[in-house]
Order: sequence, then C-alpha cells, then structure tokens
Amino acid sequence: MDLKTPPEEILFRDEVRSFLADSLTEEICSAGRRTTSVFADPAIAMQWQGILHRKGWAAPHWPKEYGGTGWSVSQRAIFAEELIHAEAPPLIPMGLQMCGPCLIGYGTQEQKDYYLPRILNGEHFWCQGYSEPGSGSDLASLKTMAVSDGDDYIVNGTKIWTTYAHHANYMFALVRTSKEGKPQSGITFLLIDMNTPGIKVDPIIGLDEIPEQCQVFFDDVRVPKKNRIGDENDGWSVAKYLLMFERGGIEYGPGLRVRMARLKQLAEARGDVSDILRHKMADCETEILSLEFTEKRIKSALSSGQNPGALASMTKILGTELQQRTSELMVELLGIEALVWQPDAIEAGANVPMYAPEHSLVAMPSYLNARACSIYGGSNEIQRGIIAKAVLGL
Ligand SMILES: Cc1cc2nc3c(=O)[nH]c(=O)nc-3n(C[C@H](O)[C@H](O)[C@H](O)COP(=O)(O)OP(=O)(O)OC[C@H]3O[C@@H](n4cnc5c(N)ncnc54)[C@H](O)[C@@H]3O)c2cc1C
Repeated sequence: MDLKTPPEEILFRDEVRSFLADSLTEEICSAGRRTTSVFADPAIAMQWQGILHRKGWAAPHWPKEYGGTGWSVSQRAIFAEELIHAEAPPLIPMGLQMCGPCLIGYGTQEQKDYYLPRILNGEHFWCQGYSEPGSGSDLASLKTMAVSDGDDYIVNGTKIWTTYAHHANYMFALVRTSKEGKPQSGITFLLIDMNTPGIKVDPIIGLDEIPEQCQVFFDDVRVPKKNRIGDENDGWSVAKYLLMFERGGIEYGPGLRVRMARLKQLAEARGDVSDILRHKMADCETEILSLEFTEKRIKSALSSGQNPGALASMTKILGTELQQRTSELMVELLGIEALVWQPDAIEAGANVPMYAPEHSLVAMPSYLNARACSIYGGSNEIQRGIIAKAVLGL
C-alpha cells in the first residue's frame, strides 16, 4: 500500500475544493452544519444534488455511461473528504446510492432509461421499503404480499422505519410472491409509485422530535409487473446486490476526524476540561486514527479490484460506535449547555433567535439520533455475527 499522494490527486483535490468554494452557498452549508442525522433536510439536500448534477458530479460511483464521473476509488474518496470539510449536507442515499446501482446491475434497458436520469436530476425521490414489524434483521421473513393479477400485482401489507417515505414519490420494496420453499426464494423486488391509490404513510416521531422514519400501509395497491426488477421470486438476489452498495464504500474516518477536531477546538476554547474527559477524547482520537488506516487499506484493496469482505462489517461497527462516542463526548463537554432544546431554531432556513450557540443546539439531537446508527444498515450485532462466521470460522 502506497501512502504517498500522487501529483494528479493533489490537482484533483484543488479542482474539487475550488468547485465547492464557488458553489456551496451559506444557506446550504448552514444546513450541513445543522444536520443532526445521516439524512439532511430533504429540500436542501435536493437543492445541493441539483447543483452537483449540473456539474455531472451527483453520482461519482455510477459508470460514466449512466451519468457517473468515471473517477477512480481514490478520486471518489477525495471528493467525499472535501464535501465533509466544506460542511456540505449529505445527499439522500436511497436513489443515488441504493436504487440507482441496483437498476444499473439488474434493470432492463427500458427501466434504466426511464429511472436513472430521474434519480440523478432529483425528479424521483426514493425510499427503501424493506423492514416490516417483526422483519428487520430477519428480513427474509417479510410478509407484505404481492398477488399476480394480469399485468399487475396487488400488494397488501405494511413496511416500517421507511426513511423519508413522507417525502418520497417512489419506493423500492421487497414483497412476498410465494410462500413455498425457503423464505428467501419467495421474494420479489418492486418499484412502487407512492401516489398509487391504497398507500397510506404515517410518519414516526423520533427521540429528537424529527419525523424521519415512517410506517407505510398497502391496501390493495396495484403495481404494474413492468415495475419488477429481476425475476419474480428472485428479489433476494437483487436485495443482496443492493446491500453491497448500502453497506460497502462508506468511509467513516474523514467525518469522524472533522468531528474530533471540532471537539478539541471547543475544549480548548472552554479550558475547563477534566482529566477524565481529556483521557476519553484522546482514546477516541486514537481509535479514529486506526479506523482511518483500516479504511485506507480497504480503499487500496478496492483499487486493485479486491472485495473488502468482512472488513466492511468491522468498519461499520467501529465507525458507528465512534459516531456515538463523539456525540456523547460533545454532550459531556458542553454539560448543561447541551440541554437547551430548540429543534425549530436549527431547522434548515429557520429564522428563530437561538438561546445557545448553534453547536450546542445541534449536540443533543445529534447524540439522540446517533443511537440509531448501530441499528440501521444491518445492526452491529448482525455485523459481529458476520465477522464471527466469515473471519473467525465460529
Ligand atoms: C434510523 C433508522 C432508519 C431506517 N431506515 C430504514 C429504511 O429506510 N428502510 C427500511 O426498510 N428499514 C429501515 N430501517 C430499519 C432497519 O433496517 C432495522 O431497524 C434493522 O434491520 C433492525 O431490525 P429491527 O428494528 O426489526 O430489530 P430486530 O431485528 O428485531 O433486532 C432487535 C435486536 O436484536 C438483535 N438481533 C436480531 N437478530 C440477531 C441475531 N441473529 N444475532 C444477534 N443479535 C440479533 C438486533 O441487533 C437488535 O439489537 C431503519 C432503522 C433505523 C433505526
């Protein structure tokens, strides 16, 4: 593994920096700073996606022929790092990171031609309809039923924890089309227009008072068979393919390093930090550094065409635990100041007087929201199970 930065990468970083300096408005950056979740405010995130799309940079990881950039693994990592440094809000991942790559891998030409440009330009806002009450980690037990009726399926059932279903106009969903054989072999992957009659969306209010996730109900919802990705009863293969994009390729290190730097800056400015807290911060910083090196190893393996394998599970566990720890340290450092609860003042575009500095108002909602990151994308217990089997052979 070569740790020296080649000159062409330095030039590329400069190009990205100068684009970001020119195109990120204060309104967009402020929404980035105030984002207390992995999901930014939808209106601002889509505005930012529009700017990136016009530059041709909305989907760096897609093949060039479908509107991607054709960048190398290193260039994509540089771009991701610079976005974090510039305080850009994260883009909504369901279309660009999940459904898009899945359509590229499994969609028909007609499906690719129709959906991919609309994912890129933001006309379609996607949500992910996998989990159900009672079917989360054990996803293959899902029960939402799709019964064949001529050229359509009739869908009945419910999905839960569907992020931003109340903003989405499309859902990619796993439904049951057969109860025969293994549970995995009776599942089909469907694209569902959220404006179809029979769909009801109930937002769920989170600990941080933000309605991010929803429960979605399907009551005799008619979905054309041409909206199926892959074969009937072969949705599990499509879902597993998509999971590689959901879990793989996430780099936690750069974001954590920026958070740690902010924590240290604040600690320095306050000057009254206990030895115990200093110790915890040093411990956390050391682990962030070792995670970054592991991620560099993965990047190096990806550049030479290898698969990260169970390392992706390891970085998911470490990355999310460190996200939780840094959010805890921030609350601990701010003490009583972190208790000022004013979620309306940190909404994107809010014009409400703040009763504490912005970083204090952001600290507690971020801490509460970070409880979820060891659950979604495959819980950390499930990732530990993968490591136990794939690495330790248990
Ligand atoms: C913020 C957030 C956003 C989400 N967004 C979406 C979305 O957009 N679309 C979507 O479809 N889903 C979404 N989910 C759902 C998410 O995928 C599930 O919550 C997750 O898969 C866990 O499933 P569960 O909640 O049913 O918990 P369960 O599977 O019931 O697990 C409960 C507990 O038991 C543990 N456990 C379960 N099985 C095992 C095992 N085999 N070994 C060891 N421990 C085990 C789990 O780790 C967990 O601690 C989201 C969840 C959250 C929190």
